[in-house]
Amino acid sequence: MGKTIVITGAGGVLCSTMAEALAKEGHNIALLDLNKEAAVAVAEKVNKNGGSAIGVKANVLEKDSLLQAKEEVNSAFGKCDILVNGAGGNHPLGTTSNPFLQLEDLANNDEGFKTFFDLDPQGIQFVFNLNFIGTLLPTQIFAQDMVGREGCSILNISSMNAFTPLTKIPAYSGAKAAVSNFTQWLAVHFSKVNIRVNALAPGFFLTEQNRTLLTNSDGSLTPRGNQIIEQTPMGKFGEPEDLIGTTLWLCGEGSSFVTGVVIPIDGGFSAYSGV
Ligand code: NAD
Repeated sequence: MGKTIVITGAGGVLCSTMAEALAKEGHNIALLDLNKEAAVAVAEKVNKNGGSAIGVKANVLEKDSLLQAKEEVNSAFGKCDILVNGAGGNHPLGTTSNPFLQLEDLANNDEGFKTFFDLDPQGIQFVFNLNFIGTLLPTQIFAQDMVGREGCSILNISSMNAFTPLTKIPAYSGAKAAVSNFTQWLAVHFSKVNIRVNALAPGFFLTEQNRTLLTNSDGSLTPRGNQIIEQTPMGKFGEPEDLIGTTLWLCGEGSSFVTGVVIPIDGGFSAYSGV
């Protein structure tokens, strides 16, 4: 019988692809997103293709919003069996302009130019909240449905930058490191009540969040985009579909003795020292 799977950030590029793949396995999918229109659009596509999905507005940073979403999910599909914590992302206010601090940077008064010393605590907090609190709160709400039942699990979305931080994005790297760490903590904490907890660590996927960082308007690669491809042994960006196999495995019975792992899906990026 199909399970009830709640996915946050499900209106986005990566999680909508994961949602469609899980729906094809016969599960009922609750697509949660701050952007209700985006979630509903994905749900309509799933339903048109013979699946079963609803789009629900939810803010992963507000408990009341999540409780309201849970009521909608429970009345449509019953108890939640699987939670995918997909909402996350970076913010320009938590990002430095240059990868390395140079002496001349301190005299750079260009508008928008940011050294480490200019980073805005509010920007840093936004990124930590979205990625870490935005994983913790939905887990507090939806894992209550899972305690002590069979076949329940949680899938978090970490990132490549959790293993080794990427230049320029200290907040996002730190926040995703917290997500990986929390995945292990929660796997241990929930081990006696039958809830497995794992995470994906996607490498570089060309999405709306990073398109202008990685590609120019003519589609060619920016210097940072080039650097990433050179550091990726498989020599390409990931496609959202590359996440499907690991998602189905970690949400399915084939991984029933697997908990507390963070799986890199990165074309070898994290295995490569560059030499
Ligand atoms: P995306 O921006 O396409 O999707 C993110 C979705 O989250 C959006 O639909 C947005 O509306 C929603 N969202 C934002 N704030 C929210 C909130 N407070 N409550 C509920 N929903 C909210 O991003 P994506 O590239 O598909 O990324 C999905 C996940 O994968 C994120 O956690 C991201 O950090 C992670 N990730 C992405 C990449 C990549 O290369 N794109 C790499 C590693 C990890």
